[in-house]
Amino acid sequence: MNSAYDYDLFVIGAGSGGVRAARTAAAQGAKVGVCEDNRIGGTCVLRGCIPKKLLVYAAHYSHDFSDAQAYGWSKVSPDHNWGTLIDNKNSETDRLNGIYKNLLRECDVYEERGKIVDPHTIAVGSNVFTAKTILIATGGWPFVPDIPGKEFAITSNEALDLEWRPPRIIIVGGGYIAVEFAGIFAGLGSKTSLVVRSKLLRGFDDDLGRELDDAMQRDGVDIVYGCNIVSIEKTAAGLVAHMDNGEKLEADSIMYATGRNPNTTGIGLEEAGVELGGGGEILVDEYSKTNVDSIYAIGDVTDRMQLTPVALHEAMCFVSTVVLGKPTKPGYDNIATAVFSTPPIGTVGLTEAQAREQFGKIDVYKSRFRPLKHTLTKRDHFSFMKLLVEPESDRVIGAHMIGDDSAEIVQGLAIALKCGATKAQFDMTIGIHPTAAEEFVTMRTKEPDPA
Ligand code: NDP
Repeated sequence: MNSAYDYDLFVIGAGSGGVRAARTAAAQGAKVGVCEDNRIGGTCVLRGCIPKKLLVYAAHYSHDFSDAQAYGWSKVSPDHNWGTLIDNKNSETDRLNGIYKNLLRECDVYEERGKIVDPHTIAVGSNVFTAKTILIATGGWPFVPDIPGKEFAITSNEALDLEWRPPRIIIVGGGYIAVEFAGIFAGLGSKTSLVVRSKLLRGFDDDLGRELDDAMQRDGVDIVYGCNIVSIEKTAAGLVAHMDNGEKLEADSIMYATGRNPNTTGIGLEEAGVELGGGGEILVDEYSKTNVDSIYAIGDVTDRMQLTPVALHEAMCFVSTVVLGKPTKPGYDNIATAVFSTPPIGTVGLTEAQAREQFGKIDVYKSRFRPLKHTLTKRDHFSFMKLLVEPESDRVIGAHMIGDDSAEIVQGLAIALKCGATKAQFDMTIGIHPTAAEEFVTMRTKEPDPA
């Protein structure tokens, strides 16, 4: 693929999606340019999934020290050093940044901001390049509502790089990021309050939100529902959040996890005539093409599903479509996802509400139990699992879990759902004993029909 342009493909944004598209296109012989005005690697590697999960591991030790006593270990009084954790996390993200740079070795990389000038032209720093195709993969950025004192608030970006761990933290939001960071800070010893305007994990199966609420409150997270912060005041003692119910909450840090906006400003989209949706996201067709034929977009900037593996999948489909000439649409059904809350959640397929709406009658199987490990520790810690079955076809259409290892377990189940497995096939599968996962193949009792 060699064209009359400077590049066959120019990618704006070197996060997970952009890097995957660029390096895969280059491996197919395309001449590829990439620009990035932050560090190479993007949200997942540098400010999201990876550093977040390292902090989740850190937080989990708090329970392990006390649980160990039931297994004969002496009592210890552990002390946590936040600085060591952040330094080690930074070393790992620096290492990954190096790996991502290396992945782009067959591309021309410009660590500068790129701006589209016209459908085939990009200005990058002082350079101007032409490209047959432009791919926008600029991701998203955390959104903080416009309230007085918002400048005192932080987002997950800053939370991952705080110089000290706030003894008291308020986290606003009830989505993925809010519950994950609530688990991190509470686990490391911060007095943690979660301010949730509606419910936990809207869009997930309702039982998961209920179980998580229960588990988090048992772990000492104070969850305040049905209210919001109207202003933030800085005082000599820290920060005061003034609530819309007239109450005040005090903290040393207030973190917003109220969603992420697509990064679409200042990159020349208006000039090139690229259409945006109401939330600022780039509108694309089923092949990730914008309304401008030579401009495509993938990943969080399109706000289809803000998940790294989805951006990677969209990147591979884009390369197939544009570079290999084999039109390939990304598929979005049965995408498993995990929330690394404490305890974690793994989920794939329809929620019960979605399944009832789509199929009317469904069969529901549930199991809630104390995992074997905690029969000795006696800790009030439960695992919950749920299977949804469409009775006519017997197909399993949803699998949900909250509890230790749920992300690891549900990844395997996602293959079964993707293959259209039936409940009878689940039942024929021999369990691995003793595990939590075996519950998914031993659930036999249907929940009573609510009707
Ligand atoms: P989410 O969209 O998941 O959740 C946003 C939360 O903030 C919701 O509880 C929402 O409430 C609340 N909210 C929104 N606006 C306001 C407001 N103005 N005032 C108060 N509360 C508000 O966003 P996140 O920031 O948690 O995460 C962004 C995306 O990142 C996720 O959609 C997810 O795809 C991705 N992600 C994935 C992870 C993973 O795979 N483990 C981890 C982290 C992020 P309401 O429900 O009422 O709208």
